[in-house]
Amino acid sequence: TIFNLGSINADIVYRVPHLPLPGETLSTTGFQRGLGGKGANMSIAAARAAGRVVHIGAVGRDGDWAVQSLMESGVHTQHIQRAETTGHAIIYVDETGENTIVIHPGANREISMSSVIAALSDATQGDTFVTQNETNMQADAVRIAASKGMRTAYAAAPFDADAVQAVLGDLDLLVLNEVEAQQLETATGQTLTDIGVPDVVMTLGAKGCRWFHGKQAQDFAAHKVTPVDTTGAGDTFTGYLLAGLDRGEPMEQAIRLAQKAGALMVQRQGTADVIPDLKDVRDAFPS
Ligand code: ADP
Repeated sequence: TIFNLGSINADIVYRVPHLPLPGETLSTTGFQRGLGGKGANMSIAAARAAGRVVHIGAVGRDGDWAVQSLMESGVHTQHIQRAETTGHAIIYVDETGENTIVIHPGANREISMSSVIAALSDATQGDTFVTQNETNMQADAVRIAASKGMRTAYAAAPFDADAVQAVLGDLDLLVLNEVEAQQLETATGQTLTDIGVPDVVMTLGAKGCRWFHGKQAQDFAAHKVTPVDTTGAGDTFTGYLLAGLDRGEPMEQAIRLAQKAGALMVQRQGTADVIPDLKDVRDAFPS
């Protein structure tokens, strides 16, 4: 089982002729609302990859729809608490596809220690724990998970040097993209092979990814596809990677499947709603 301490957001997307300037008032040309948050995306990806996923998090009193949506993707939601306001992201997208995002974390920063402890009391050695940097309780939760002998993973996004350094010592696996990797190396003054995390996977977008294991580094080329929307590629990749590892696949095999899922995801417009399932991934990339 994968226990994911993660954010749950309402993504509120406004299409605008151009990104608003200071003091400007603009009318939208389109509107969309849906489930988002790196945590929710990752839970959905892992569940659609046929993993068993328990989501640990919080929504507001207005958040039934978000819990429902996670449940419909097969995520276990009994450890999602209620707080005041569901986290939300206000996203402006202009005609060229450029965006500006403001996030109100809301309930995502009000997760209680007792709910983390309650959720992880069901976990045993061999289960997987993952979190990202969009909730509170990250470091405490990783420490508890490590003490239970769980496989502990962290996605260092959105990047914050203090947040990642608070968990590094308890991690089995760190997943980050190229920019985050550079930020981590700058913050710590160490290379990815020297930070003391046994496995580090750096995603490289259209260039695939690189797996650091001890002093070794192994490259995996990306599948050649034409991307239409790269949002959610990293979350999809990580969810698939963890689902593979949680069911006992070796790292190479889990990475290969995650790369297929990421390559399919970038060919789809949208986020949580279009994260591919295992059958779609296998159909798109047989062998
Ligand atoms: P993030 O969204 O976190 O920045 P990346 O852009 O590195 O993450 O993408 C995560 C993974 O998704 C990559 O490692 C790769 O497997 C896949 N992927 C992303 N972009 C492409 C692309 N243009 N072509 C093929 N695969 C891609």
